[in-house]
Amino acid sequence: MKNISRRSFNTKLSKGIAGTAVLSSVGLSYGFSSGKEKKKLGIALVGLGSYSSGQLAPGLQDAENCYLAGIVTGTPAKEKEWMDKYNIPKKNVYNYENFDSIAKNKDIDIVYVVLPNSMHAEYCIRAAKAGKHVICEKPMAVSVEECDAIIDACNEAGVKLSVGYRMQSDPYTNEIKRMVKEKPFGSVRYVSSDAGYISRGNPDQWRLNHALSGGGALMNMGVYSIQSNIYGTGQNPISVSAQEFSSKPEYFKDTDETITAQMEFPEGVVGNLFTSHNANANRLFVSFEKGWAELNPCHSYGPLSGRTSDGKEIKYPHQSQQKVQMDDFAKHIMLGTTNYAPGEMGKRDMIIVEAIYKSIKEGGKKIPLDLGDMGIVRQ
Ligand code: NAD
Repeated sequence: MKNISRRSFNTKLSKGIAGTAVLSSVGLSYGFSSGKEKKKLGIALVGLGSYSSGQLAPGLQDAENCYLAGIVTGTPAKEKEWMDKYNIPKKNVYNYENFDSIAKNKDIDIVYVVLPNSMHAEYCIRAAKAGKHVICEKPMAVSVEECDAIIDACNEAGVKLSVGYRMQSDPYTNEIKRMVKEKPFGSVRYVSSDAGYISRGNPDQWRLNHALSGGGALMNMGVYSIQSNIYGTGQNPISVSAQEFSSKPEYFKDTDETITAQMEFPEGVVGNLFTSHNANANRLFVSFEKGWAELNPCHSYGPLSGRTSDGKEIKYPHQSQQKVQMDDFAKHIMLGTTNYAPGEMGKRDMIIVEAIYKSIKEGGKKIPLDLGDMGIVRQ
């Protein structure tokens, strides 16, 4: 942990009465009682691939409530490069073998697991056992069973858990949530969400290897469509039916190429999902009784863009989604503010992923879902 300016933290705090209300009870353990200094939580990134190097580490340079304190890497050449670039002391550098000794390192408050999907459970559980709060990248794991194991480990260790769902902290997403809740155009009747890109790279990459990814387009991009179908309706689906399409089986040997799914929500609301590793798609359309809202692009790193049926633009100043996401989680830990992407949200999405794969296996059969309010975060 290290100090941050009082001013930047107060700016954040002033935005939420809830945050202020819990300050006296939760803040004490993080040194908020002195009135003189505030703290930044130290994050260690596990896995220094493209997302850590391209988005998370740069986002952390501007973060207000957390900072890049350490790294965990299996590639010795990256150690010096990252230490020099981000001023990380040698004592905060770990590899996969000595990772568990991070338990003794007081600089590290949060471990952020940014590895291939099949490795999330092992490293999240080891981080929890080391007494560190955990951020687990999406998709949370490769099965519901693994999601449960991560949640249980965090509960047993008494640490906080969040999924790397950056969109849940994004202002465009939150504007859609506001419209769904406050109903300026009436109630939602239909939602459609697309998330995909054309994968042309190395056919042996881990995303196309089922043992490492747990699945193809659905596991990688489809979770965004599941997420936006849910925040676009404010409810969990009660059933799902799905279809798979394949046009390049020689390239997508091991994982799904394109999937469409239809979701049924309470009160006759219908959702449509498209995800692909062989088509570019990045859109959310929400149809209300008396109008519509659209985000396009919707799931990328931004700037995003949105509009509504009354001709208005949805527009916010661009900032790093990853910075906002990690700052929100640090604030949740320090002040007890809302956890916008709790473990139950990641588990719920994996239940839906498993139902989609089951439906495809059973020829598009409608699979009932009994999720209640699991993973729905009311703001
Ligand atoms: P990447 O391939 O660029 O990096 C993976 C990292 O894991 C590398 O540092 C690699 O060395 C390491 N690794 C360790 N064991 C490995 C193994 N057996 N095979 C392959 N790599 C291994 O991947 P990435 O794009 O950084 O994705 C990492 C995680 O982050 C994934 O879970 C992905 O879904 C997630 N992600 C999330 C977002 C987001 O917007 N939230 C964006 C990109 C990636």
